[in-house]
Amino acid sequence: MSVPTRFTPIIGLEIHVELKTNSKMFCACSAHHFQVKPNTHTCPVCLGLPGALPVPNKKAVEWCQRIGLALSCQLAEESKFDRKNYFYPDLAKGYQISQYDQPLCFKGKVTLSTGKEIGITRVHMEEDTAKNVHRKVKGKDMTLVDFNRSGVPLVEIVTEPDFRSADEVDEFLKELRRVIRFLEVSDADMEKGSMRLEVNMSLLTDKDKGKFPSYKVEVKNINSFRFVKKAIEYEYKRQSEILNTGKTPRQETRGYQEDVDKTISQRSKEEAHDYRYFPEPDIPPMCFTEEDFRQIKEESPKLPQEIQDRFEKEYGLPKETAAFLTETPDLVTYTRKAFAISAKASIDPKDIANTIKNKKYDWTKLEPEELIEKLKAEKTDVITDEKQLSPIVDEIITQNPKVVKDYKAGKQQVIGFFIGQVMLRTKGKADAKAVQDLFRKKLS
Ligand code: ZN
Ligand code: MN
Repeated sequence: MSVPTRFTPIIGLEIHVELKTNSKMFCACSAHHFQVKPNTHTCPVCLGLPGALPVPNKKAVEWCQRIGLALSCQLAEESKFDRKNYFYPDLAKGYQISQYDQPLCFKGKVTLSTGKEIGITRVHMEEDTAKNVHRKVKGKDMTLVDFNRSGVPLVEIVTEPDFRSADEVDEFLKELRRVIRFLEVSDADMEKGSMRLEVNMSLLTDKDKGKFPSYKVEVKNINSFRFVKKAIEYEYKRQSEILNTGKTPRQETRGYQEDVDKTISQRSKEEAHDYRYFPEPDIPPMCFTEEDFRQIKEESPKLPQEIQDRFEKEYGLPKETAAFLTETPDLVTYTRKAFAISAKASIDPKDIANTIKNKKYDWTKLEPEELIEKLKAEKTDVITDEKQLSPIVDEIITQNPKVVKDYKAGKQQVIGFFIGQVMLRTKGKADAKAVQDLFRKKLS
């Protein structure tokens, strides 16, 4: 038996993003379900009652196309909904309305900082399921179903299996989150479940000779950026151990369990044909014109990368700083305001950028004007006044008898230590020359 020595992870992602439209995907119920009293936003459509007719949410479809455009996808001129059939208690109809062979958007890409491109296979529209709640009722373990989430618009983004490391996945997800937040279509919050992730992963061995592995493991239940990395690392270890014994890992769905930092087998992975997809008979196919696409482009907010490039070019900011300032739309608005008034106050935008990035002041608690005032004060507030400096100098002298002794013994260079101490206590505002003179006077 030849034991393979090297493994290359082959990773693809499936990401579900919940849109923050006011109403649900196929009915007029409110789509807000986070921390809402259970089963208060329901109707025959989202409860899946027989005979209820779905009516698509136009805004959700447009927002899905917005996401597609931002990921450099082509938009389909003809698209339709399909039924994805499966049974689960949180799916009352017995099928999810999704899209199968004609997604709204397809063939996109995202470029990583290394220049590597990650292919986007498709971006499609579907509906969220209800939520199972496990809890004790009258001393018995029960599963209750909350239908507030049932029918909330969900966009599914599928990537090509282009990732080769957890770091690439991490960078991609952070960029995706940033883009979606700037598009103002979702909070894309993994902790709150408005961005959910499935990782498809296998390991390529030397024996595969460049062909993809014959198996694929799907990992679900990853709800933070930190856990993405951990789940991938765990799977790498688990799969490589199996491969090292000459066996092939099972094709299956596994769930990540954060408390034990492991993935646990859930079921064998289903194939597309298991779902018996067929066109949704209650919703007519959708057709779009060039004019429709032009309008969606026009109404889409600016992408963070564009703003970041402008910050770099116009203000000469380093890439890292510009990226930091374009993390959220709020921070961009704030930075722009501060930059706009910086010239009048003769403050360098670079100083503003660094101050925000280094968290010297908490920008969320200061108006841009106040931040600039603080920077201005820092520049002009040099303390030269002997009355102000004297008590500080006295204190340092009494607290450092040994250094004072050294100085008196002729070690002139310890004056640098004294000045440093004063700067520490005055946050760098003391005039160094004045401080030095004061020490010499007091110690002579
Ligand atoms: Zn409803
Ligand atoms: Mn889906």
